[in-house]
Amino acid sequence: MTREMCYRCFWPKPLCWCGSIRPMETATRFEFLMHPKEFKRVKAGTGRLTHLCLSNSEIRVGVGFDEDAAVQALIRDPLYAAVLLYPGPGARNLSQGEPPVDDLDGRRLLVLLLDATWPLARKMLRLSPSLQRLPRAMLTPSTPSRFVIKQQPHKECLSTLEATHELLVALERAGLDRYPNPEQLLDLFARMQDIQIRCAADPDRKGYRRRPYSDPAERVPFQGRSGARRAKHPIAPERTAPPEPGKD
Ligand SMILES: [Zn+2]
Repeated sequence: MTREMCYRCFWPKPLCWCGSIRPMETATRFEFLMHPKEFKRVKAGTGRLTHLCLSNSEIRVGVGFDEDAAVQALIRDPLYAAVLLYPGPGARNLSQGEPPVDDLDGRRLLVLLLDATWPLARKMLRLSPSLQRLPRAMLTPSTPSRFVIKQQPHKECLSTLEATHELLVALERAGLDRYPNPEQLLDLFARMQDIQIRCAADPDRKGYRRRPYSDPAERVPFQGRSGARRAKHPIAPERTAPPEPGKD
């Protein structure tokens, strides 16, 4: 298979997603703050595909964001009400119907999401006091992660595509946004997994996993350090409650 990449979706050109993605208009602005390690990962990173699905979104790559002029300008912009999607004390639980902010007061909602593994997301937050000061929102997913490719250590951990889907469902329910194409994110996610599972089963393909993937429901969760390393988007506080920034 050719190694030539599409530099928009960062998939190999024969598997490029761009033609099948129809960007959705949303009132909410999404800012995906991506760790450089996530940016470099070609396969199974869903942050980039999520961004391509949302016309009102942007990816910023970095570890600390206090020096990122674009992010800082957005946070301070009086047209936006900024919220960080990250669990913690005082985080509004959108899945339980809590509004992300009390009153938008004519502003637009700006949601910042950390796109990284859990330990790296924690580090990003620790290095970004301006993000620590933002009001927080969290989700308690209605279904466990559908992620077959990357085994999720806890059922509360979702891929970026799934987390954004849950977020949009909650925002629409709260009357804060329209979610014009709710199937797109999950459909894309399912098709992405289909391709990877097929590649894994094809012994002629190089660089893909050879063993078939097991069903997420039948797996034993990762424990201890290995689980912590692999954890991704722990958007609910149970079992994965983050230490306060600076304490780890
Ligand atoms: Zn592409």
